Amino acid sequence: MSVLTRNEAQTRAQLLDVHRYTVDLDLTTGEATFDSTTAIRFTARTAGDTFVEIKPETLRSLSLDGQPLDPERLDGNRYPLDSLTAGPHELTVAATMRYSRTGEGMHRFTDPADGETYVYTQLFMEDVQRVFAAFDQPDLKSVFDLTVTTPTGWTVLGNGVSTQAADGRWHIAPTPPISTYLVAVAAGPWHSVTTQHAGLPFGIHCRRSLAPHLDADADEILDITRACYDRYHEKFDEPYPFDSYDQAFVPEFNAGAMENPGLVTFRDEFVYRSAVTDTERQTRAMVVAHEMAHMWFGDLVTLTWWDDIWLNESFAEYMGYQTLTEATRFTDTWTDFGVARKGWGYDADQRPSTHPVAPDPDAVPDTASALLNFDGISYAKGASALRQLVAWLGEKDFLAGINTHFSRHKFANATLADFIDNLATATDRDVHTWADAWLRTTGVDTLTAHVETSGHSWNLTVDRAGDRPHRVTVGTYDHSLDTHTGTDQLTLRDRFDIDIPQDGTPVTQPGHRPDLVVLNDHDLTYAKIRLDPGSWDTALTHLSGIPDPLTRALVWNTARDMVRDGELHPTVHLTAARTHLPYETDLALVQGVLGFAATQIADRYLPPQDRPTALATLTSLCRDLLRRTEGLTAKDWEQAPGTTTPGSPDPGLRLIAVRHFIDAATQPDAIQDWLREGTVPGGPELDAELRWRILTRLAVLGATDETAIAHELDKDPSATGQEGAARCRAALPTAEAKAAAWQAMFTDDTLSNYLFTATAQGFWQPGQSELLHPYVARYYPDAIALAARRGPAIAEAAGRHAFPAHAVDPDSIRLGEQALTDPALTPALRRKLTDQLDDLRRALAVRDAH
Ligand SMILES: [Zn+2]
Repeated sequence: MSVLTRNEAQTRAQLLDVHRYTVDLDLTTGEATFDSTTAIRFTARTAGDTFVEIKPETLRSLSLDGQPLDPERLDGNRYPLDSLTAGPHELTVAATMRYSRTGEGMHRFTDPADGETYVYTQLFMEDVQRVFAAFDQPDLKSVFDLTVTTPTGWTVLGNGVSTQAADGRWHIAPTPPISTYLVAVAAGPWHSVTTQHAGLPFGIHCRRSLAPHLDADADEILDITRACYDRYHEKFDEPYPFDSYDQAFVPEFNAGAMENPGLVTFRDEFVYRSAVTDTERQTRAMVVAHEMAHMWFGDLVTLTWWDDIWLNESFAEYMGYQTLTEATRFTDTWTDFGVARKGWGYDADQRPSTHPVAPDPDAVPDTASALLNFDGISYAKGASALRQLVAWLGEKDFLAGINTHFSRHKFANATLADFIDNLATATDRDVHTWADAWLRTTGVDTLTAHVETSGHSWNLTVDRAGDRPHRVTVGTYDHSLDTHTGTDQLTLRDRFDIDIPQDGTPVTQPGHRPDLVVLNDHDLTYAKIRLDPGSWDTALTHLSGIPDPLTRALVWNTARDMVRDGELHPTVHLTAARTHLPYETDLALVQGVLGFAATQIADRYLPPQDRPTALATLTSLCRDLLRRTEGLTAKDWEQAPGTTTPGSPDPGLRLIAVRHFIDAATQPDAIQDWLREGTVPGGPELDAELRWRILTRLAVLGATDETAIAHELDKDPSATGQEGAARCRAALPTAEAKAAAWQAMFTDDTLSNYLFTATAQGFWQPGQSELLHPYVARYYPDAIALAARRGPAIAEAAGRHAFPAHAVDPDSIRLGEQALTDPALTPALRRKLTDQLDDLRRALAVRDAH
């Protein structure tokens, strides 16, 4: 198979003008394959040679302008179209295509809960070729007119409104001009909730076995959808560009969601079968808002080439968080962004694989290299940069520039240069220089505060390591005694904005020096922050007493990257968590800080002999949180999300404590009791998610067996249950269990993407290093072969979940470095391994630093 290069795409875009695809898919031809017939109407601007792409099981026939072509001439995924004459043409292609089990192309899934089958497409970035023949590049937009034949009783969803013409034969309304990667079809006996909004049909859909769970949240999901839709229409001049808005929650989806015009697909874990926290609901709402932003940025105006994928993602990410804050009950989204997303950007930006937010076009020469840029830079750093841009430009000018961009390029394509030029029309500020400093450079700046007393005033100087301009807010805080509770609090004294670099003179403020000076309060810029020593002492001892959660998020992020940089002992971070989290009221903060403490500090940054103590600290912290959330009634657990009474215990906080207690348990007794009783004392009652979580932990501890796992699977034979069982089986601390799990992951090429991931998640456990030692060396050759056989989605899962992340030692790193020289390594796996090895090196450096 050949990947498309940027040069080839430019040449083809100059040659062709594509008008219309008429596609006919027949999904009734068996379990392995489907039939695909395509007619493409296009014009060649001059005479020339080109090609069309398709990845068929069998290419049955082709014709150009009515003249048959020889199917044998297919070369990999390219069919040559030589000596095209100038003028209009019609190419028809008939082929048999294979369903996928990896979430790429046309994924087919049979629900173990009821035997019903569903298929859906994921055609990003070049997988349209797995479904029908196409000139597959983003800047050859066209009208798509699809007809789909299905088994009786199915519903077909597509980019446009679908109608059933005859039993099982569906026609989808033709699209406006869109890119090939954005075409979508989802077919099966969907459960649907439909409504109308702003004169358009809106629908949400999931597989039937999840129907009660979707119904329970339908109002919430649709309310958020409507609120975001209305808010975007206040911000954007261009109206929503498509004829309907469907959101389908589909099984075994690899990403969070995909922004197909008029048919967004989501992973169906977003249809909650078990209890979730309000932060998780906020995450789902954010994904809804993010994907809808893409309807304008990505779908209406599309990148010309994949080097600008960051602009799609950063824009949607920024707009998603900002719009949720403005339009829904989730008014504190930027704290979650700070805790859950920014670290992803900071981490990615400090690895050897970092790249500018806007990479040089030459750095993205083909589609394989473009696929590597779906990372913390393109999402989190880019969104942070846009947020800083809005702080610097003002929102009014920013939106004016965006609207110019939409109106100039609608239903067409644009580049970063177009975007910056359009922003520049709306402001006197030098956006081009800003873009060079922020978007064309790599790495994280570090801003260090120096505070001095000077007579009756104090001075602030900021050292900057790095070259970017920053506009930041400085927050100053003083101790005060809360006479009501007798506790020591911090009170905000003042906030003021400064530009960095400063012009050489320190900022002078009246009064005594504050007890705490926070640079980048409000978190409007993207930089590592170092407080002055006095402020740092105050922050560490009074973290939970800082009034604003966004400020606390910033201080926690500072502690996090000080640990990662070897400047703060991991146990100091753990102690701070132990001290402050029992008083933390923001769920995103509790979740984020506990997650880091458990998976990074306990599992990687501390040497193995210190892990039991760290786990004991975490369980005692969780016991504190459980005590703080005692007294919840059954009614509290059932009440509508987001309606917790202020001051009363929060069910979400208790759920986080229960989950982390389970994951950190070093003795089986307590959680075994919970499983036997079916409840945590004082609640919650165990749902499927918590039961599988406990069973996984018991498996890790060697305190359960195959009989118990099979028994649990009888109770929950759903797809999630199958994953739970696979995870438990792989986690059992026996040589047989590990051998069976390894065999499934690396030799069974029918294993679905989700079962692969579940097995990998169970397999590596930090407390089982002796048993797992032989697999560290086996991992590299086996993963390299697997990635070559099964493609990018499985390569990504193998690099992310099946990697020996707990083998923090020089031998393991050396093995990995040798593997990077293997010529058989695919680009997707190479990128994952490069990053994982860097994380191992960092963990080793953190251990060596203290
Ligand atoms: Zn996106």
